[in-house]
Amino acid sequence: MAALAETLQQRDPSLVLVQAHQRAALELLSRDFYDFSPVLEPQFAQRRAQLGVRAGHLDQVRLVAAACAQAGIPLTVRGAGTGNYGQCVPLMGGVVLELTALNGLRQLDPASGVIEVEAGALLSAIDQQLAPAGRALRLLPSTYRTATIGGFLAGGSGGIGSLRWGFLRDAGNLLGVEMVTVEPEPRLLRLDASASAPLNHAYGTNGIITALRMPTTPAVAWQQLVVGFHQWDQALEVARQLPATAMLFNSLSLLEAPIAERLPWLATCPPPAAGEHRLLVVAAPDVMDVLPSWLNARGGCLHWHGAQGVGRGLPLLELTWNHTTLHWRAQMPDWTYLQMLLPQPEALALKALRQRWGNDLLWHLEAVRHQGSVRLAALPLLRWQGEQQLQAVMDHAVQLGAVLFNPHVFTVEDGGLGDIDADQVAAKRAYDPAGLLNPGKLRGWLER
Ligand SMILES: Cc1cc2nc3c(=O)[nH]c(=O)nc-3n(C[C@H](O)[C@H](O)[C@H](O)COP(=O)(O)OP(=O)(O)OC[C@H]3O[C@@H](n4cnc5c(N)ncnc54)[C@H](O)[C@@H]3O)c2cc1C
Repeated sequence: MAALAETLQQRDPSLVLVQAHQRAALELLSRDFYDFSPVLEPQFAQRRAQLGVRAGHLDQVRLVAAACAQAGIPLTVRGAGTGNYGQCVPLMGGVVLELTALNGLRQLDPASGVIEVEAGALLSAIDQQLAPAGRALRLLPSTYRTATIGGFLAGGSGGIGSLRWGFLRDAGNLLGVEMVTVEPEPRLLRLDASASAPLNHAYGTNGIITALRMPTTPAVAWQQLVVGFHQWDQALEVARQLPATAMLFNSLSLLEAPIAERLPWLATCPPPAAGEHRLLVVAAPDVMDVLPSWLNARGGCLHWHGAQGVGRGLPLLELTWNHTTLHWRAQMPDWTYLQMLLPQPEALALKALRQRWGNDLLWHLEAVRHQGSVRLAALPLLRWQGEQQLQAVMDHAVQLGAVLFNPHVFTVEDGGLGDIDADQVAAKRAYDPAGLLNPGKLRGWLER
């Protein structure tokens, strides 16, 4: 590895290297948020890169790809390292290539709103640059302030905005990528939407994405609302009904009372009363004329509202999606979580799961658009009692008709529907023929 570092430094003295003696920095570059999972934690604890490289432009990416391919060294790409399943942990060691300095917004087409942006750009920084043109990104993870767009595309799935735009892998959310292959003489390729699809949510196993072409949406002056309910059934019904109205929402998150009680609410927002469930709503400003009375008629009470992006403290969005899990685990570290799409009608499945698992499984729901229909996704919190209990809860949910996205596994396929995607494997064969990119994460490659 020392020889590789020397070669890289000779070829480009401006490359930033993190070497073996910088143990703490290398360890940080080799981690993400896999500690949400007590199953993954021991599997990743000892996995480290031997060399970190920070690349800020295309020539540097190609240089690193060439050097790794020539020496047969594993190469794992990293954005901000906020993944939850060890997506950017280098299972086989080698080089971690960090791309946050490759972050320019290359183009915004004023007519269509389509952008071309470099992979290491932070999502919040992109939105800030789009704002003067009245545009915004369609989809954001709740980590939008720290995560990169390349990492979101390669490792994430959806989040804020999924109620309107579905998930990243839905046709239309990615229009193309620019990528570098991992070969002794790396190619810089520009792929159209359909050729880019196999790189979408492939954990960087089949190409180094250097830039993305994506649609944007007209910006909306979103309002954040906190609504309280004393009856869970009423709250659930409201979460189901709201998306079917003519009001415009960007996200709807429902938190069961014990979860709501432990969240860090804004200083200006009253904390929940005992037993109060909370619905967090991100809505267009015009709904303010109708929503409070609409909610009142259905058992909801509006406790707080404020414009998104204004004021101090945590934005409401950072109480949703996996930030709910983050805040809960900060106080309850012996808990973990699950991810699933609930079967319909949701109330029946939830009742059955509550009856069996009681207070060991607490409910956090997010409204999403799935294959064209509005559905409720769940990220329930689970008191950790071992792998057998985890499996039993997952089996029970599947038996009831839930579609599970297991966050306690590290391959692309096992975290999804379990199926091997032949196109992802073919893309790896074409762009990473020696299998050096993020080895161990694409099961279809290992089993080919
Ligand atoms: C508190 C919390 C909340 C979260 N909320 C959400 C959420 O709402 N929705 C969601 O989808 N996810 C969520 N996540 C997961 C994660 O934050 C997002 O998916 C995020 O977008 C990942 O971006 P990143 O820059 O940190 O990527 P990283 O973690 O650095 O990388 C993710 C994967 O992408 C690969 N990769 C990174 N850059 C490239 C590139 N240029 N080319 C090829 N491969 C690349 C890496 O190898 C890795 O496999 C959450 C995580 C946490 C800890």
